[in-house]
Amino acid sequence: MAKKVAVIAIGGNSLIKDTKHQSVEDQYLAATETCVHIADMIEAGYEVVIGHGNGPQVGFILRRSEIAAKAEGMHEVPLDVCGADSQGAIGYSLQQNLQNELHRRGINKPVATVVTQTLVDREDPAFKSPSKPIGGFMDEIEAKRRQKEMGWTVVEDAGRGWRRVVASPNPKEIVEIESIKALIKSGTIVIAVGGGGIPVIRNAKGDLEGVAAVIDKDFGSSLLATNVDAEVFVISTAVERVALNYGKPDQKWLDKITLSDAKKYLAEGTHFAKGSMAPKIQAVIRFLEAGGKQAIITNPENIGRALKGETGTWIIKE
Ligand code: ADP
Ligand code: MG
Repeated sequence: MAKKVAVIAIGGNSLIKDTKHQSVEDQYLAATETCVHIADMIEAGYEVVIGHGNGPQVGFILRRSEIAAKAEGMHEVPLDVCGADSQGAIGYSLQQNLQNELHRRGINKPVATVVTQTLVDREDPAFKSPSKPIGGFMDEIEAKRRQKEMGWTVVEDAGRGWRRVVASPNPKEIVEIESIKALIKSGTIVIAVGGGGIPVIRNAKGDLEGVAAVIDKDFGSSLLATNVDAEVFVISTAVERVALNYGKPDQKWLDKITLSDAKKYLAEGTHFAKGSMAPKIQAVIRFLEAGGKQAIITNPENIGRALKGETGTWIIKE
C-alpha cells in the first residue's frame, strides 16, 4: 500500500506564542498544542514528516554564547553548530510531545528527529550579498575587529549599533534524505530539516563542511516535501488563510488558488509580505513545479479542518 505522506512545516508560533512566553517551559507548552493537531493528522492516516523554524532559538543560543564569551572567556559557538543545537532541542520537545500525545491515544508509532544538513552551492549568489542579521549588537570597534579577524560581514543597523549579517542561500540537497525516507518507510514519524537544515557546502577536498549561513525553513521544508513525494505540503503558521491585499481595506481571504494564480499574485508584489508570507508562497510554487499536487497554508488549530477542505488556503497544480 502506498503511503500517504504529508510534510508539515511548522512556523515560529508553534514554539513561541509571543515575547512574554519564550522560556523553555513555554516553548514546550506551545509544542504540546501543535502536537495535538499533528496527532490528528496521523490518526487521519497520514505519514507525517515535520519541518520547523528555529530563528529565535538560534538567536538565544548565540546570545548565551556571546555573553559567556565576554564574561568568562568561554569559546563561542559557530552558527552551524547553533543550528545543530537548536535542531536537537526543538526535535526533542516535538518528539516527546508527539510520543506522549500518541501514547494517550493508544497509537503505537515511533517518532524520531534527524539532525539534518542541507547542501548549498558555494557559488550561490547569496554569499556575495549577505543580508540576514544574526547575533547581538556590537560597537563599531568590535564589529571592525571581527570583520578583520574572523571575516564577518558587518553592517550598521540604523542607529542601533553594528550587527553581523550572513547569507541565506538556496537549499540544493538534503544530505540525510535516504535516512529520512527509510524512516518514513518503516512507519516512523520524522522531524527533519529544522530551521531549513544546517547549511553545508562541499569544500575543495569534496568534504561536507558547515557554513555560517541560514536557510529559509519554508524552502528547506519544500525541498523535503518534493524529495519524499508528499501527497500534500502543509505550511502551518499564524494565520488561518492567506489574503490578497493583506492588512489593507480591500483584503480578500483566499480559499483555493492554482499554481498560476499563486505566481501571478506573487509577481504583483503587493500581497505577500517579504520575509513572512512571500517565502511561503515561493516554497509552495517550488513544490508544485517540482511535481507536487497540492499545498495548504493554515494555522495549527485548523490543520485538521483544512485537510478536510473546510478552511486554509489551498494551492493546487491546475
Ligand atoms: P512563520 O514563523 O510561520 O514563518 P511568519 O511570521 O514568517 O511566520 O509568516 C506568517 C505571517 O505572515 C502571518 O502571521 C501574517 O502576519 C503575515 N502575512 C504577510 N502577508 C500575508 C498575507 N498576504 N496573507 C496572510 N498573512 C500574511
Ligand atoms: Mg517565517
